[in-house]
This record gives sequence, structure tokens and C-alpha cells, in this order.
Amino acid sequence: MTVFAYKDGILHADQLRLDDIAEKTGTPAYVYSESAIGQNIDSLKQALAGSFPSEDMPLIAYACKACGNLSVLALMARNDLGADIVSGGELTRALRAGIRPEKIIFSGVGKCAGEIRMALERGILQINVESKPELEKIAAIAGEMNIKAPVVLRYNPDVDAETHAKITTGREENKFGLLAADVTALYEWACAHPNLQVRGLSLHIGSQLTSLAPFRAAFEKLAELAKSLMAQGMSVECLDLGGGLGIVYENESAPSLEEYARLIKTIISPLCKQIILEPGRLLTGNAGILLASILYIKETPNRRYMILDAGMNDMMRPALYDAYHEIRPVIHPENRRSLKYDVVGPVCETGDTLGVGRNLPEMDEGDLVAVMNCGAYGASMASNYNTRPLPPEIMVRDTTFITVRQRQTVEDIINLETKMDE
Ligand SMILES: *Cc1c(COP(=O)(O)O)cnc(C)c1O
Repeated sequence: MTVFAYKDGILHADQLRLDDIAEKTGTPAYVYSESAIGQNIDSLKQALAGSFPSEDMPLIAYACKACGNLSVLALMARNDLGADIVSGGELTRALRAGIRPEKIIFSGVGKCAGEIRMALERGILQINVESKPELEKIAAIAGEMNIKAPVVLRYNPDVDAETHAKITTGREENKFGLLAADVTALYEWACAHPNLQVRGLSLHIGSQLTSLAPFRAAFEKLAELAKSLMAQGMSVECLDLGGGLGIVYENESAPSLEEYARLIKTIISPLCKQIILEPGRLLTGNAGILLASILYIKETPNRRYMILDAGMNDMMRPALYDAYHEIRPVIHPENRRSLKYDVVGPVCETGDTLGVGRNLPEMDEGDLVAVMNCGAYGASMASNYNTRPLPPEIMVRDTTFITVRQRQTVEDIINLETKMDE
């Protein structure tokens, strides 16, 4: 991936200088590269093509929550991808961006009645169900609508994804999915229900997985469960394998997509008609950066703080997951000594730290930095904490850029509030 690279000592996004973008849009700002997202899609498709003939290609349903900007979703739609959504809001986005309803999967443990109804009205591919009461609710709503709701039961295989505790989702102690015994009973119940059409099983064991071993373990358990359902006379038409493929943030080794495809081909593909994948981070993670300015350099006897105009409200991953994100100067100063910085934001929280003890060339107030690999779970997790407006999102297309989300204003935030009379 060379989309964000130095040319003549200046960090670029494709053909554009990031300092030029910053001058026009201000900071903080998210900057995405359309070509980088395109490359990520192509790499996954190519890896799958190595194992699957074109008529048997798994459906790639991009997990919108990673980065749901309309222009990002429209790019997914143009590449024939579907979407994995987790709310009615994301359904609205995905449809508006042009993603076809028959390629949309609705995941999540807490779908409310309005969201379920909307999904059924729009005719999405399937609702991935995470509990018995949820399945009963879906069946009741489908009954009122006089239709059969397409459902998939989400299996919790109780495997360790070997990732950060806050992004592990496939252990018995996590709120997600149904345990094997519950899946079997519920599957049988659903098959007999007049308002349910049971398509199959899904799983999603966690995010930022850097080894294929947990995938293998989970896929094998899923295959075993599917076989046992089929042995009992139930049909399993679709197996949805979730997302979770990790990317390189620091010095991890990302799993090989070719091997991932072979694993699916060997373990899953003999069992069902349709395979679904739900990658999020893999497609957008390395395709975006957060551009920020240095407000102050603050020195104490033991530390040197680089205080940025971007904080945990703009990019939450370091505070929430102790995530590592490389921080680079936009203009690489020549012949400067290297200094150790704690890179922090302006938010009134000690957790508002983007990087600890980073060796960077000596930098000054007003200099620009890029926080790398912020294309997934960056803008989509941003908040208004400290009444800080959401940053804009910029999409670079070759030699131009388009503001695909404007910077929010303080008025945008306050307008929804009411000041009560005495
Ligand atoms: C978040 C999520 C994904 C995407 O995960 P990534 O690690 O970004 O690939 C896929 N499926 C479900 C159900 C999810 O909740």
C-alpha cells in the first residue's frame, strides 16, 4: 500500500499533498483514498477468485459500521458489494448509497421493532438473529405483514479470537450469538414457523484477527453444526462467516487472504449454496488518515507532549482499545534531531492520548501530522464530547478531492437542544 507516501519529503494521498488539503479544509480532518479502498476490494476479490469459480463467489457484504460515509458505501455498491448493517440508520445509508436490498444483511443483538419492520419492507437478504425473543419478535412482525422473514441464526462458537477483549465477540461470555444447543432448538422451531424462512447460520468471532487459527476453529465448529442440522432434515442454504480480518497497524502480520479463501473453500463451501463475508476494517482501515495540527508542544521535566487539535472524540480507538496508530509528520523536516513525544488531544480526559513515547523528528506548533490507518472505526466512532464538532471527511480521487462530509458546526450540535425557561 503506497497511497499515503512521502514525495520530496511531503506526505501525499495519491497525487495530492496533505498540507494542501489541510490548508483548504482545516484540521482535524479525515482523508480517504478512493484508489486505496478500490485496491483493498480488488485484493479480496482476487484472493477469493483463486479458490472460487466466478459463479460460486461468496457475497462480500461490507460492514458499514467501519466507515459508513455515503461515498464509501457508493464505492462498495459500484463494486457489486453488499452491506452488513447494524441499525436502521445504516440501512438508510446503504440504500441511499445504492447498495441493493437483496445484498443487505442486518446484524446486531438489539434490533428494535421499527428497524425490523423497515428491513422486511425493503426486502433485504436476511436478518441475522441473536436471541430467541428477537426471533419471536421478527416472526410476529412478519406475521402482521403476512410475509416470511428471511432469517439466519448467529452462532456463538465459543472460540478465542486472540484479539483485544473489547473486540472479541465469539466467546460464551460475550453477548453475541446463540450457543450450539440453543441454535439447534431454535432452528427447528423457526423451520416450522409459517412466517420465517430460515436461510442458515452466521458467525462473527471478533475484529482485527491477525491469525487464521481462530477462523479455522470457528469455521470447523460452524461446519459441524450445519452438518448436524442437515442430518436432522433441516436445510442450510447459506453460511455467513462474518468479518474480522486484521490489518497491519504496527508490526502485526496480517493473515493471508489467499489462505483465508482456501480455508473457506475447504471447510465451508461443500456445505451450502451461498457463502457471505462481512469485512469492514480490511476494506477501509488503511485507506484513511486523520490529519491534525500541532497546537502546542508542552514540556515537563520527564515528558514532552505534542498537543494536537484532534482528540479522542475524533478518533476513539486508542482510548477505547489501547490501539496503536502510527503518527507521521506531514512535512518531514530535514536534519532535525529525533525526540520522544506523548501525542495527546485537547479533550479533558487522561485517556485522550493518541500515542505514548513516540520518536518523531523535532516539530513545532502549527506543523501537521497524519494519524495513519484511521479509515475504519475512525469517523464512524467520532462523538461530540467536549462539544467538539465532528471533523469533515475528504475523499481523494487521483488528483482532486471531494468533501464527502462537511465539518459539523457548533450550531449543528446545539440546535437540537432547548434552553428551558425558569
Ligand atoms: C463489526 C462486524 C463486522 C466487521 O468486522 P471487521 O473486523 O471490521 O471486519 C462484521 N460482521 C459483524 C456482525 C460485525 O458486528
